[in-house]
Amino acid sequence: MSAPHCFTQDYKSMDLGERRPLHRVPWFIAGVGIPLICVAFILPDDSPAPDAAPLAEPVTVATTEAGAVAELDAPEIAGNTGAGDVSNAPGSAATADPEPFGERLTLTIRSGDSLDRLFKRHGLNRTDLANIMTLDTARKHLRLIKPGDEIVVHVAENRVLQLDRQISLSEILSIRRADDTFAARIVEHELEAQPVLANGTINSSLFLAAAAAGVSDRVIMNLVGIFAWDIDFVLDIREGDAFTVVYEEFWQDGKNVAEGDILAAEFVNRGERYRAVRFQDPSGRVDYYTPDGRSVRKAFVRAPLSFSRISSNFNPSRRHPKLNTIRAHKGVDYAAPTGTPIKAAGNGKIVHRGRKGGYGNTVIIQHGGNITTLYAHMSRFSKARIGSRVKQGDIIGYVGATGLATGPHLHYEYRRNGVHMNPRTVKLPDAEPIDANYMTAFKEAAGPLLQQLDHQQTLVAADTR
Ligand SMILES: [Zn+2]
Repeated sequence: MSAPHCFTQDYKSMDLGERRPLHRVPWFIAGVGIPLICVAFILPDDSPAPDAAPLAEPVTVATTEAGAVAELDAPEIAGNTGAGDVSNAPGSAATADPEPFGERLTLTIRSGDSLDRLFKRHGLNRTDLANIMTLDTARKHLRLIKPGDEIVVHVAENRVLQLDRQISLSEILSIRRADDTFAARIVEHELEAQPVLANGTINSSLFLAAAAAGVSDRVIMNLVGIFAWDIDFVLDIREGDAFTVVYEEFWQDGKNVAEGDILAAEFVNRGERYRAVRFQDPSGRVDYYTPDGRSVRKAFVRAPLSFSRISSNFNPSRRHPKLNTIRAHKGVDYAAPTGTPIKAAGNGKIVHRGRKGGYGNTVIIQHGGNITTLYAHMSRFSKARIGSRVKQGDIIGYVGATGLATGPHLHYEYRRNGVHMNPRTVKLPDAEPIDANYMTAFKEAAGPLLQQLDHQQTLVAADTR
């Protein structure tokens, strides 16, 4: 096997015809030395469920607090937000519970704070805190605090009348004084999910196109995750590629508080159209499927390293001019900063981990179907040893420049029955299709979403006419 040649991308020059002649392409990356492109794949499993979104979400306490008040006392005053709210609001429940709200304070946890310290700093009665902490519900949801967390209290003469803490996007811990004791409850703060459709066309980078379309990095990374088995987002994105995405937004009191999952998506890569629809089958399994019910997952991802926003710019000149060396090159090179995590392209067993001549620090994984993948030039390895079983996406090492490499990059090879295949174009084995029992349910759920993608396509076509 020949030693890897760096700065060549493909082991075949098969698609050169699609590109502009290299000598006419500005080689602006040359100043940096290495085209910094990386990739990635995010398993849909990794995307946080909306209700798992922690307090770190930029939720305004004023809003949630008002919601809590409304829920507790008088739903009709929900709009009556702001500091200094007084509980003897017009009407209803508030009158049944005439206790004054006192002064409303938003307490922000600082580094090193305990609740006790927080109370002390604000001159609040610490016996009240001690009493509150005797409540199971309160203890459960106040035990863990971190800097930046906010707690809203209503106080009168340093005594706590009410204490609220948002514990999830849709739940608030609310503690109220009742005479000399406290009672805690969890108040539901309803979220409204709304589907949003956005689309963009790539001129320079996927992230810029997403920003222009008003799509967050999080959504676009999820999109990358959905299509990571079909599209090499590091090397194959081209000017003119386009995406359409339908995803959920969560609204609360007229504010957009969180993004949910992608419901359906389309990516047109070099004229090839890929579509995926999210589906939860009756057994509870959630996955993305093609319109005909095949899983978007495959036994191998296209590009086995992490994708970063900074290095994602589409650059048609990323090939090194010395393409005449291509014949000897047996893999794909992904230039990426030293230390970029390298992930197992598929499930398998590590059969080599160590130096390997010009490859430098190298890992070889044996997969099913007599397939092996090879990852070279690593700066260092992960903990996975020879003989370790690894899953797709497990980190096996980090990008480096060991062996015959002039700059940090991953050299990646894919072999079937010992024969090198082009990892960028080899047909990858499919993962599990949708359970036949669920196909009808899938078609019913997917239909309207696919119609939205169709509709968008019609609009775009009309627009460019
Ligand atoms: Zn190489």
